[in-house]
Amino acid sequence: MLNDKVAIITGGTRGIGLETARVFLENGAKVIIFGSRQETVDKALADLKQSGAEVEGYWPNLNDFAAVEKTIYEIAQKHERIDILVNNAGISANKKIEDTDPEEFASIIDLNVKAMFNVSKAVVPYMKKQGDGVILNTSSMVSIYGQPSGVGYPASKFAVNGLTKSLARELAPAHIRVNAVAPGITNTDMVAKLPKEMIDPLIQTIPLGRIGEPRDIANAFLFLASDLASYVTGEILSVDGAARA
Ligand code: NAD
Repeated sequence: MLNDKVAIITGGTRGIGLETARVFLENGAKVIIFGSRQETVDKALADLKQSGAEVEGYWPNLNDFAAVEKTIYEIAQKHERIDILVNNAGISANKKIEDTDPEEFASIIDLNVKAMFNVSKAVVPYMKKQGDGVILNTSSMVSIYGQPSGVGYPASKFAVNGLTKSLARELAPAHIRVNAVAPGITNTDMVAKLPKEMIDPLIQTIPLGRIGEPRDIANAFLFLASDLASYVTGEILSVDGAARA
């Protein structure tokens, strides 16, 4: 479904991003993963290369636009195009407002929103030049319902939806589609970090009766990245078993 497409996936070292890299590779894409550190990028690359896949990795500081721009330039020089960007890197929060420092709130917005803006801004000139492209963002079900604590996280994901819908309209004339996937609770390290008392009651409210697996989310990204979604843009696709947070 993605034969010879060049795809960049931020937060590609584990969880949803790593599984999306795997699914894209299985579908013929050339994949470039971004992570926060060389060590975790190398570990993910070793894992992905076991199947003989063509995959490489970088670890620019996503909050430093100049560093991001330089890395995207190197990738574009090497591959001559950038077909797909998956803005997936993200961190969550669960503390009450009284226990959250303003700096903690800012750091969530920095990675979940500002970094998404930075990487998108860096790839758009290449996509415009080649005449098409796909930008996909990882949102969350909390972008629709909010959550009872950790306000920075839903605030950031509401912003992701705004960025997605607005960029879709801005970039449609350049044949660049922009969509988001809004996962429900998904079986990754991010969820493993949350207290059991917070997760168990949530699972009980999921009509499909289970939490999501990274592959459930990766398959949604595959659809949105592919030509099967050629008339889909500005969409926030919920992949959450009909959960209500
Ligand atoms: P994860 O913690 O397993 O992976 C997070 C990824 O983000 C890692 O690859 C990590 O390298 C990267 N990352 C973290 N901090 C970074 C930084 N400062 N700079 C660059 N990269 C950084 O989490 P996950 O569950 O796979 O989450 C991926 C995305 O899915 C996030 O945007 C998250 O908000 C979203 N999401 C997750 C769930 C869930 O239940 N797991 C639900 C809804 C949305």
